[in-house]
Amino acid sequence: MKALRRLTVRAALPEQLAPLGEIVANLRWSWHPDSLDLLESVDPELWADCNGDPARLLGGVSTDRLAALAKDRKFLRRLSDVSDDLKDYLDQPRWYQNQQAEGKQLPTSIAYFSPEFGITEVLPQYSGGLGILAGDHLKAASDLGAPIIGVGLLYRAGYFAQSLSREGWQQERYPSLDPQGLPLTPLRDAEGNLARVVLDLPEGRALHAQIWIASVGRVPLLLLDSDVEENDAAARGVTDRLYGGGPEHRLLQELLLGVGGVRAIRAYCAITGHDAPEVFHTNEGHAGFLGIERISELTDGEAKLGFEEALTAVRAGTVFTTHTPVPAGIDRFDRTLIEAYLADVPGVPVEQILTLGAEEDATKFNMAHMGLRLGQRANGVARLHGRVSRSMFNNLWPGFDSDEVPITSITNGVHAPTWMAREILDLAEKVAGSDALAAGSGWDAIDSISDSELWTIKRGLRERLVGEIRRRVRISSMERGFSPVELTWTSTMFDPDVLTIGFARRVPSYKRLTLMLSDPGRLKKILTDPERPVQIVVAGKSHPADDGGKELIAQLVRFADDPEVRHRIAFLPDYDIGMARYLYWGSDVWLNNPLRPLEACGTSGMKAALNGGLNLSIRDGWWDEWCEDGKNGWEIPSADDSLSGTTDKHRDAVEAAALYDLIEHQVAQRYYDRNNKGVPTQWVSMVRYTLKSLGPKVLATRMVRDYIFNLYAPAARSGRVMIADDYASAKDLAAWKSWVAGAWKDVAVRHVDSQVEGDPTLGGSLQLRAEVAVSGLKSSDVQVQAVFGPVDADNRITSPSVVTLEFADERDHVAFFTGEIPLSKAGAFGYTVRALPTHPLLANPAETGLIAVAHH
Ligand SMILES: *Cc1c(COP(=O)(O)O)cnc(C)c1O
Repeated sequence: MKALRRLTVRAALPEQLAPLGEIVANLRWSWHPDSLDLLESVDPELWADCNGDPARLLGGVSTDRLAALAKDRKFLRRLSDVSDDLKDYLDQPRWYQNQQAEGKQLPTSIAYFSPEFGITEVLPQYSGGLGILAGDHLKAASDLGAPIIGVGLLYRAGYFAQSLSREGWQQERYPSLDPQGLPLTPLRDAEGNLARVVLDLPEGRALHAQIWIASVGRVPLLLLDSDVEENDAAARGVTDRLYGGGPEHRLLQELLLGVGGVRAIRAYCAITGHDAPEVFHTNEGHAGFLGIERISELTDGEAKLGFEEALTAVRAGTVFTTHTPVPAGIDRFDRTLIEAYLADVPGVPVEQILTLGAEEDATKFNMAHMGLRLGQRANGVARLHGRVSRSMFNNLWPGFDSDEVPITSITNGVHAPTWMAREILDLAEKVAGSDALAAGSGWDAIDSISDSELWTIKRGLRERLVGEIRRRVRISSMERGFSPVELTWTSTMFDPDVLTIGFARRVPSYKRLTLMLSDPGRLKKILTDPERPVQIVVAGKSHPADDGGKELIAQLVRFADDPEVRHRIAFLPDYDIGMARYLYWGSDVWLNNPLRPLEACGTSGMKAALNGGLNLSIRDGWWDEWCEDGKNGWEIPSADDSLSGTTDKHRDAVEAAALYDLIEHQVAQRYYDRNNKGVPTQWVSMVRYTLKSLGPKVLATRMVRDYIFNLYAPAARSGRVMIADDYASAKDLAAWKSWVAGAWKDVAVRHVDSQVEGDPTLGGSLQLRAEVAVSGLKSSDVQVQAVFGPVDADNRITSPSVVTLEFADERDHVAFFTGEIPLSKAGAFGYTVRALPTHPLLANPAETGLIAVAHH
């Protein structure tokens, strides 16, 4: 008979080993080398079979072994060291506390909402970059001591495990997770009862969820789980899978994440005494309903605010991060579905909710638009992505140039202790110290490591990757139905000395998994070149509903099945954190060839760079910002940067040809160019330069610090102002906004007079006096700006500068503003004058969307 569920029953730990239980209960072990070494020493053979899962280790270790360890003085000493180190890590002041001690005003608490979190392969609650980023964000926040609370869902089957059919077609398996066997503890109240959140659903139904806590170092991650007894069967299944099911299923997940998430935080803070968050960070649109819940708290609760007042207060403390410029990647629902599920939110009329998510298509509700309207501060995830997002969402701020759209950018980063190979981390720490590395200084000390030492380490990492490829391809081929006798070739496939290119990522079409197959003959030649061979390891999952992506995987597998090349190219199924690490550690080159500019940031190349891997990439995402062609990698030329998400055959062919050329003439050339000791000195100097130049930039601690100073701290300040004196500022600002919005139609820039001393010459200036009808507004409610710069043939100001004109005088609702603009560029030059509403509590001049530009 088959078991319904499985769980791990753990032997009771002898008292002397109790700290081991505490070490395992906090996920910090997953990025802490000494903890991992300690776990391994519990039972090295068993650990090797546990796929990095300490719960399985403790479940499998014999009582005899535990009894022996309880008497092993050396083990107990190490245990106590690691345990003390964990206590210090959790309790001692860290960077954030030191900043506060120096007088910096920082938020007391920050909530971070995300639909997925990738922390360790043991907790498979992620599908790709978004989740990994969220995991790295929490880990870096923990390292910095930043007071973040994570909020997500616990998917009982997580994301799927991938295998291949004989023909190379992706097969999906959803292993059922039992929270008992995971590093999670349920949230209980003081009486020991399980904490619950409840959401009302249409037709008198309800959605209940319990709250699991994963401890990510110092950061609690609250995961909501609908698989509880009080729910009907349908409600139980809400958190079954990540990104599974239809629109209604997804909406229920997002309601639970947003609305339920806020309630889970309230319960957590009430039980533990934790500070209530001052800032709510919405990591991508999926969690956007958190804003609706917080508005409802203010309109329906004690504060008794009106809708606009509550919206104003909530916006001030909300940060929204957009993660995709791919139109299909934007989360949208039918309006009718929103009407059905959000008709009865206390204190929030459904019409208002619909307006928050309105977009061009009147039948749709757009979660990204709602995110932007609910967050006073918003960002994209790389410099280029910021620019693309401002243009993509420009229609929410009509009248403004895309450069002025209030979406900034913070470039993603990656968590070094999670992604760096131990050998490289140890070496870097030895020469620079771990604190200096984490602070972003000290990376220049890499210079003191010799070429041959670096090269020996890289070879060792490549060799480890080759071993892992052989092991995985063998297992995968057996699953595909090949017999062991047909698989002897796998024991010699790949070569620890051959130039190794890694390519691993999800398989949406814009990432172009099969670009390398554009000319199969040419690829075959590159792989099997007798002088300068190349080997390529590929991995990635396709979304289960995306047959197009599965077809790409099948094409690649068919190519790699060819006996002529199978020793040089492999597809590894079931890409996850555990496998990814081997690829980042061991690849000499990390390949990325998205359709520019559809890769918002991309982080895999950053992880490769932290291990001395050289990036070979289209200039997209983060690489657009930090690529130094020929120094820290190579730029694959991109044929154009049209925004269309469709794959263009011609463009693919051109870019693939450029890729082949680069590999043949630059990459392989440099890799095989050795000195008399067999060291490729030019290559190693690129490895060294990559570590030095990119190391400090790609760190998640750098990213989290940027969020803290640029977004969280200002949001917390705005939020505090709004709340003070019974929400006086929120009420004022809301009243002001609606008054200005009403009066604005009559605001106009009527005349602009200009004067130049003599002829307009370079270095001179232009005096302006603008007459502005301010209608019922005060002149202090209006900011008047001159926008100027070189103009094109259409009279468009191509790279505009802005100066604010000063209020001069006023009569009969007409105000005069004066100022001067510098004539700083020779040639065709133009200017215009415009008026915008201004208020000290606006975060950005474009925020209200109102503007009046001088007419001709
Ligand atoms: C880093 C990482 C990703 C994201 O990589 P991209 O470059 O953003 O595609 C996805 N999955 C895993 C397992 C990762 O480690």
